[in-house]
Amino acid sequence: MRTLEEAALEASTCTLCRLANARTQVVYGVGHPNAELMFIGEGPGYHEDKQGQPFVGAAGQLLTRMLDEIELSREQVYIANCVKCRPPNNRDPLPDELDACTPYLREQIKLVDPHVVVTLGNFATRYVLQKQVSISRVRGQRFLIGERVVIPTFHPAAILHGGGETSPQMAALRSDFQAVRAALAEIPQRVEEQLGLF
Ligand code: URA
Repeated sequence: MRTLEEAALEASTCTLCRLANARTQVVYGVGHPNAELMFIGEGPGYHEDKQGQPFVGAAGQLLTRMLDEIELSREQVYIANCVKCRPPNNRDPLPDELDACTPYLREQIKLVDPHVVVTLGNFATRYVLQKQVSISRVRGQRFLIGERVVIPTFHPAAILHGGGETSPQMAALRSDFQAVRAALAEIPQRVEEQLGLF
């Protein structure tokens, strides 16, 4: 298997779909290469496209704050999106754009190998679970995919555009991050640790 850097380098010149035409740069992903917790958003927005990193705008600042509340930093987790290039005017990615980008995300998940995957918002949740679920119904629940635990939650942008700090959605987001923390605390010890080799 190649490294995340090698995969990111290949992605940086990708022209597999029309999103390549309008992008400033590819936003591959950022964070710890072996994080136990991975976030998946929808696709880069304006600021992400300019800076080349996912979740650096207002929604990203809220994500960073929620991480801080469960005593994690951005450097300890891995953050990626369903598509790596900004869709024009932040529209939803189209099915063929998703298809073109799926191998990148699949490889990223394999390489990072997180125990817990948090999907942010309806779009990423439906894409990862492959089901037309509604985020307000499934948020905070655990879904097992192979050995990974998937926990959907609201997209931080939805909180910012919706009720804000005192809204029920914000309370739900907080509570979901506590669920994430609990899931991380349950990670089975790695075999090496059990054997006392480290
Ligand atoms: N929204 C997303 O879904 N992803 C980002 O990277 C930024 C905003």
